Amino acid sequence: MHTITLIPGDGIGPEITEAAVRVIEATGVPVRWDRQLAGMAALEKYGTPLPEETLESFRRNKVALKAPLTTPVGGGYRSVNVTLRQEFDLFANVRPALSFEGTRARFDNVNLVTVRENTEGLYAGIEHFIRAGRETVAAESVAVVTRLGCERIVDYAFRYARQAGRRKVALVHKANILKCTSGLFLEIGRQVAQRYPDIQFEERIVDACAMQMVLDPGQFDVLVTTNLFGDILSDLAAGLVGGLGLAAGANIGEDAAMFEAVHGTAPDIAGKGIANPAALILAGVMMLEHIGEQAAARRIEQAVRAVIREGVHVTPDLKPGSGATTQEMADAIVAKLR
Ligand code: ATP
Repeated sequence: MHTITLIPGDGIGPEITEAAVRVIEATGVPVRWDRQLAGMAALEKYGTPLPEETLESFRRNKVALKAPLTTPVGGGYRSVNVTLRQEFDLFANVRPALSFEGTRARFDNVNLVTVRENTEGLYAGIEHFIRAGRETVAAESVAVVTRLGCERIVDYAFRYARQAGRRKVALVHKANILKCTSGLFLEIGRQVAQRYPDIQFEERIVDACAMQMVLDPGQFDVLVTTNLFGDILSDLAAGLVGGLGLAAGANIGEDAAMFEAVHGTAPDIAGKGIANPAALILAGVMMLEHIGEQAAARRIEQAVRAVIREGVHVTPDLKPGSGATTQEMADAIVAKLR
């Protein structure tokens, strides 16, 4: 029996969570859901967007499936997502971008995974203004790149590639300009690559890489890069395959892993029953792979692919004018699993 911390989240979160739970349970994989609150839902009940109960559950279970959360504006609350990443040292953000037949995407041959360093770089949070009297004259942000941080993210990318049967890892950098931070990342990346002679290694400069991704994304397999570049390139990759409605991601640490839909709480459609559950279901696929349930993961992925390809029971974001609801799309996916 796998016990999973389940965070239904805010906005469309609870609707897509019910759909994802139903699909995962339909595979027959033995799962016990440890339901926990975070975001606005938690603020209303516990007075904090990230209650100790939720942290404790994740600490205990080490695996979480999380729907989108709202970080309350004002009140000085830190982003729940950022806090979870830091608290559990979830250093690898893994985001597959896969083409789905039947979507209105720019390409139909994309099958790449971005592995983004999640804890340091320019997002280390070290920044300040420089003031002369009352005037702000400058702003500075410090990028932190550590040997440990580089080593573990590049190593993770290679291990991931090997496990997933992928052949190539591209390290994305800007070492020609950022000689220290990006330079260190590249230097350590080259060393790590030598330990994986079975996986092809290539180096890409980030600006040229962005252009190549748009021109010919089929040439990419696994990309590994620092925090800021990874943030941007993983969204770019999602755009290549039809946007956020199908984009899932994982935040992985040495001890714990959290799986999520990349999109937000979509307040404009919350409660209407028309949110696309696919991204969270695909996050569930990544979660099943992580806990060793590969067969169930493949079955769900195939079922999602079939439903999207047929284009009948899909939510309006995938097919404008479609009347299918979140539940109907989930039902169609469950039916394919039988
Ligand atoms: P947040 O503030 O939580 O980031 P947001 O609305 O600013 O919310 P997203 O939630 O990512 O950002 O939504 C961007 C757009 O995409 C919205 O119009 C939303 O309705 C749509 N959208 C996002 N996720 C889905 C989904 N799962 N199904 C259908 N539409 C979605």
